[in-house]
Amino acid sequence: MPARIYNFSPGPATLPQEVLAQAARDIVNFQDKGIGLIELSHRSKEFMAVAQETEDLLRELMNIPDNYKVLFLQGGASSQFAMIPMNLLRQGRTATYLNTGTWSKKAVKEAKLFGDVDLAFDSSSTTFDCVPQDNNFHSADGSEYLYFVSNNTIYGTQFRNFPETGTNLICDMSSDILSRELDVSQFALIFAGAQKNMGPAGCAVVIIRDDLLAGCPDSVPTMFRYQTHADKGSMFNTPPCFAIYAIGLVLKWLRDQGGVAAIAELNCKKAALIYDMIDSTEFYRGHAQVSSRSTMNITFNLPSPELEAKFTGEATEQGLDGLKGHRSIGGIRASIYNAFPYEGVEKLVNFMKDFEKQNS
Ligand SMILES: *Cc1c(COP(=O)(O)O)cnc(C)c1O
Repeated sequence: MPARIYNFSPGPATLPQEVLAQAARDIVNFQDKGIGLIELSHRSKEFMAVAQETEDLLRELMNIPDNYKVLFLQGGASSQFAMIPMNLLRQGRTATYLNTGTWSKKAVKEAKLFGDVDLAFDSSSTTFDCVPQDNNFHSADGSEYLYFVSNNTIYGTQFRNFPETGTNLICDMSSDILSRELDVSQFALIFAGAQKNMGPAGCAVVIIRDDLLAGCPDSVPTMFRYQTHADKGSMFNTPPCFAIYAIGLVLKWLRDQGGVAAIAELNCKKAALIYDMIDSTEFYRGHAQVSSRSTMNITFNLPSPELEAKFTGEATEQGLDGLKGHRSIGGIRASIYNAFPYEGVEKLVNFMKDFEKQNS
C-alpha cells in the first residue's frame, strides 16, 4: 500500500486506520461466521447485537439520558431539515432559526414549507463569519423550537456556548458531535450525519427526547415520523447496516482514546496549532471572527486566489489532501475532526511556514 495521506476533507472525512482495517476484515468474514458483514440480515442476532452495541456506546460516550431515543436513519442530515418541521412545527405556528451558514439556510427553506420561521440571528451579510455572542434567546420562548447549527462546516464557525431558551432546542451537530462534552438534556433533539465525525456516509443519528414523539400530525407519512423509527428501534425498514456497524467501530476507538473529554482536549490543541500560525502572520487571514472560531473546520485565505491554488496543489503533492475551501468562500479549509491525527496538523503548519517563506 502507498503511504497514507493526511485527509483534510470536510466529509466524508478521515477515519481511524484501525477502524478501516477492521471493517475490511469484517466485510469478508464477520466474527468467523463464514459470512460477510454487509450480507447479514438486519434481523439476524449478529446484526441486532451490532446495532445495540453502537447505540449503547453512543449513550455511554454522550451520557444520553434514558428519556431520549437514539435513531439511526437514512437520508443523511439533509432529510432532517424537513423531518424536524414535519414532526414538530404545527400548522400556523412559528419556529425560530439562527441563520449561521449554508446548512441553516437549507433548513430554513424546508421549515417554511410547514409553518412560519422567525430568524432570530443572521450573519449572512458578513459571509457567515460569526455565530451569536449573546446567547440569550428567551425571545423565542413562544415558538415551537429554536434551531441552530453548532458548527458551521463551510465557514469554520462554532458555538462555544449553546443558545439559552425556554423552548425546545434543536441542533444540527453534523460536524462537531462527539468533539466536546455537552449536556444532552439541554436539547430536545440533536441530529448529525455520520460522515464527518462518526463514521461513513449513509446514516444520520437522531437523539430525540421521547415526549416529542407523540406530537406529530396525523398527515405525516409513516417513514417520516420519528415515532415510527423509535417504536421499532430503527428497524421499521432496512436500516443503513454498514454505517451503523462502522459508527460502532469509531465509537469503540473513541472510547479507547479516553472518550469525549480526552478528544476535546486534543481537538483544542490541534486547532490552536493552526490558529497560532494564522495569527502570527499577515500572509494568512482567518475567515471566522476570532470569538467564533471552530475547532473542527479551520478556514483561511491567502493574499490571492492564485496563491491559494498553488498552496493546495503543493500541499497535495506533500500528502496533505482535501484543503480546498468550499466554493462559497474559496480559500483554504482544514477539516480536523476527531480522527484527524495531530501529526498531520503539525505537518500542515510546517508546510504553511515554508509556503509563506517562499511566496511572500
Ligand atoms: C455535511 C452537513 C450537512 C449535510 O449532510 P448530508 O448528510 O450530506 O445531508 C448538514 N449539516 C451540517 C452542519 C453539515 O456539515
